[in-house]
Amino acid sequence: MENNVRDVIIIGSGPAGYTAAIYAARANMNPLILTGMEPGGQLTTTTEVENFPGYPEAVTGPEMMADLQKQAERFGTEIKYEYVTEITFGEKEGDVHTLKSNTAEYQAKSIIICTGATAKYLGLDDEKKYAGSGVSACATCDGFFYRGKDVAVVGGGDTAAEEATYLSKLCNKVYLLVRKDEMKASKAMQHRVEHTPNLEVLYNHELLGLEGNNVVEKAKIINNLTNVESELIVDGVFIAIGHKPNTDLFKGKLDMDETGYLITQNRAYNTNIPGVFAAGDVQDSVYRQAITAAGSGCSAALDAERYVAEFFEEV
Ligand SMILES: Cc1cc2nc3c(=O)[nH]c(=O)nc-3n(C[C@H](O)[C@H](O)[C@H](O)COP(=O)(O)OP(=O)(O)OC[C@H]3O[C@@H](n4cnc5c(N)ncnc54)[C@H](O)[C@@H]3O)c2cc1C
Repeated sequence: MENNVRDVIIIGSGPAGYTAAIYAARANMNPLILTGMEPGGQLTTTTEVENFPGYPEAVTGPEMMADLQKQAERFGTEIKYEYVTEITFGEKEGDVHTLKSNTAEYQAKSIIICTGATAKYLGLDDEKKYAGSGVSACATCDGFFYRGKDVAVVGGGDTAAEEATYLSKLCNKVYLLVRKDEMKASKAMQHRVEHTPNLEVLYNHELLGLEGNNVVEKAKIINNLTNVESELIVDGVFIAIGHKPNTDLFKGKLDMDETGYLITQNRAYNTNIPGVFAAGDVQDSVYRQAITAAGSGCSAALDAERYVAEFFEEV
């Protein structure tokens, strides 16, 4: 084990983690980031990011994350390409927390969890084949690229209903493929879906595959009651069957909702354990954007800094 107790360790290197690091480093907390298996986070899997402020001509996801990393390093953030395997949390204010990674063991006065979330997919080979070329799991992120076009959304819950109504404002036509004969979405969301003229719900329909020359041009679908297969001519397919927050490590230790999102308390980013904070998609099932993740990373770092000053520093 390292013999020094760190002021703060940040778990995860997406927009939340790097922003937390920038703020913690500038507050003299010498942060350590453990990047996890996906250094740079989810945005490293996408091409254009057009909605992060400060990039008027857009930026690729990997370039943007490299910029955030450089900015965090400029102020002295230490970055280790390790993933956390185990944590023993202190219980009360002023207790130290112990983290094990795949190669080392650390102690910290405060921890900021920024482990993100992962979009669920159906498991079709074509989802991987056309990823970023007609397949998306985020209408807010990618809807703009489909302005005036026809698209399909897969899913029957609130997320799917929201994505479909959002896309209906940008796209010419939206098909919503619902596996069952009814939607799981709330009555209010269903009402919105049913009253959106360019949104057509195809109940009992499932996506079988995709076709197209490098980009999606057609969706092959099946009616699961009649087994009749058909095609939709669409430019994009949005998979909206939910997200899985990366919180397995914290089960039974930190409060989470029924889906596994960490519950942060009050107005701030505290978890139920003193000195343990959470930011970004791991605690946000609603907005799930790079800018909101970055914003909460900033707040969590400020909270951590105040916590360490209050419970560890002598006055
Ligand atoms: C394809 C795609 C395109 C997108 N496009 C946009 C867009 O255009 N605009 C936009 O605003 N948003 C977009 N998003 C959403 C955006 O990427 C997320 O909202 C944002 O990345 C969330 O940031 P985060 O820091 O919370 O977590 P993430 O980016 O998910 O990062 C999580 C980090 O945690 C690490 N981690 C996980 N487990 C461990 C562990 N045990 N130990 C150590 N580290 C761990 C991972 O390695 C990773 O570095 C897109 C998402 C996807 C998937």
